[in-house]
Amino acid sequence: MNEIRLHNTLSGKTELFTPQTPGEVKMYTCGPTVYDFAHIGNFRTFIFQDILRRFLKLRGFKLNHVMNLTDVDDRIIANAAAAKIGIREYTEKYAQAFFDDCKTLSVEAPEHWIRATDHIPEMVRLIERLQKKSFTYDGEGSIYYRIAKFPEYGKLSKIDLTGIQSGARVDNDRYEKESARDFALWKAPKEGEHFWETEIGKGRPGWHIECSAMAMKYLGETLDIHTGGIDLAFPHHENEIAQSEGATGKQFSRYWLHAEHLLVEGEKMSKSLGNFYTLRDLFGKGHKPSSLRFALASVPYRRQLNFTFDGLQQAASSIERLRTFSDRLKQGKFPAGSNPAMAGRVAKADNDFDAGLSEDLNTAIALAAIFDFVREANIAMDKGEFKQGEVAAALELLGNFERVFAIIQDDDAAKLKALGFGAAEGEIGDAEVEKLVAERNAARARRDFATSDRVRKELADRGIILEDSRDGGVRWKRK
Ligand SMILES: [Zn+2]
Repeated sequence: MNEIRLHNTLSGKTELFTPQTPGEVKMYTCGPTVYDFAHIGNFRTFIFQDILRRFLKLRGFKLNHVMNLTDVDDRIIANAAAAKIGIREYTEKYAQAFFDDCKTLSVEAPEHWIRATDHIPEMVRLIERLQKKSFTYDGEGSIYYRIAKFPEYGKLSKIDLTGIQSGARVDNDRYEKESARDFALWKAPKEGEHFWETEIGKGRPGWHIECSAMAMKYLGETLDIHTGGIDLAFPHHENEIAQSEGATGKQFSRYWLHAEHLLVEGEKMSKSLGNFYTLRDLFGKGHKPSSLRFALASVPYRRQLNFTFDGLQQAASSIERLRTFSDRLKQGKFPAGSNPAMAGRVAKADNDFDAGLSEDLNTAIALAAIFDFVREANIAMDKGEFKQGEVAAALELLGNFERVFAIIQDDDAAKLKALGFGAAEGEIGDAEVEKLVAERNAARARRDFATSDRVRKELADRGIILEDSRDGGVRWKRK
């Protein structure tokens, strides 16, 4: 077993990971703001935290992990008011879509999945604690956090506070570093907006107080790990620290882990560029959940991830290789006895896999450990040098891999069907046939006959007959 080291944004260093209570990890992840469908950039972060929690569990830690749904913030309040419906009614659809998306990508449910609007009293109590310690002041019915009162403000995002005017305020939940100001903990209601009647007045919470109050309710005043996308480091996480540490006088989170941005074909994803994708957009184009999970997990979380359709295609063939190997291993037609060299090779792969993930969750190294092993084991199998004695250990290695990466189990079709994609039972759409035929052609071109046979069989099972023509082309027809 290798020591687990994680990069802590707070110190700017990769540190040995030790939780406060041996064997237990208290972790908080900022969940989605449910005002729209989550996009693949959001899921880059959610896959990262899923790989983290799965790896910690594999290493025997008991997880106490909280993820929130932000179901009240500026955008939700404005959209719900415009639609003249309550905020619960407005957010319900997107909250349910998020749960469905997570299931489809095999993102495990955290121990606590909670909503901001179920925790208004906790937020009010935290604001009262801050009021008693003079961290706040009132302005036109709203309550602001006085950042001058918290000298450590900026320690996470390392922003330069010189020139910040004391007492200048910002009302928006989201703002840039240049506008670091006293921020709103509690906002006075505007005409037509949803509000709560509370001990600190009418209004609604600011976004930042939500996470401080909820994290401390479920995990105590000091967490082990707080995760999120890098764009949350400022102002959101900086403000969470100011609020929590201001109130308790204790460190809020010992490790802060941030996932880098995702680009699409080298460009920033945006609706105006037409390269903005939700999961459903990709599934509609015939891509599989496992390919997307693999593509999002394959780049270490602190590196920018350039999402490309080529990459997604490669992910699909990588998964195919693993699934084919796993089947071959399970069929178990190997010579009796054991081969010490291969036994050593399995042990090395196991260690390399663990070492990769232990070093700040380096998924690229962990994946390379498995794929190198699969390649060598396939060669050994072809030569009859892979013996029955190594099957159990190899299966255990793949089992450990699967507990973290969750892509070998082939349940894509069922997942897509649950989301309403794919043809009716037994039917297959033309686009999907074309895609599978292309996959088979690619496999044949690289002389990967196991994959090409597997795809032919899959098509046959779904009523598609392939005819290889003399010129090397392939035609298909329905039975
Ligand atoms: Zn948060």
